[in-house]
Amino acid sequence: MTEVNYDTGNIFAKILRGEIPSHRVYEDKAVVAFMDVMPQGLGHTLVVPKAPSRNLLDANPSTFGPLFAVVQKVAQAVKRAFDADGVTIMQFNEPASGQTVYHLHVHVIPRFDGIPLKPHTGAMEKPEVLARNAEKIRAALAA
Ligand code: AMP
Repeated sequence: MTEVNYDTGNIFAKILRGEIPSHRVYEDKAVVAFMDVMPQGLGHTLVVPKAPSRNLLDANPSTFGPLFAVVQKVAQAVKRAFDADGVTIMQFNEPASGQTVYHLHVHVIPRFDGIPLKPHTGAMEKPEVLARNAEKIRAALAA
């Protein structure tokens, strides 16, 4: 698999290296999960493999098992944490699809009957709200 188009300066690479802050809810040897700063809904979380790839198209297939095991764990946790009716999983590849950050990631978004998603990369959430939501997800993951 090629990493030729992977930019090590992308924002998630910086988060993974600890160069910029994030509201982390989960970390293991292969995967990190943290709050999306422009949530499309309450509890919008991103699940990110540590291995560098631009998106799903150039990722090593060995990335997907550990990644999606965490996607499921986080989806179950956010559903419990926010008493959601469902969970949307989204993943974008290249600008035409809506991708804006070029390090593979999966969106996990709690859903509530009758409440539509907010726009993709819309308004910034307040840090204290993200911190509070992250704490709820961490508690659900630990339960
Ligand atoms: P995508 O369009 O699938 O590449 O999604 C990138 C996501 O990253 C968007 O939902 C943004 O709101 C989110 N995002 C951008 N910068 C940050 C950041 N510093 N911390 C957390 N999420 C971010």
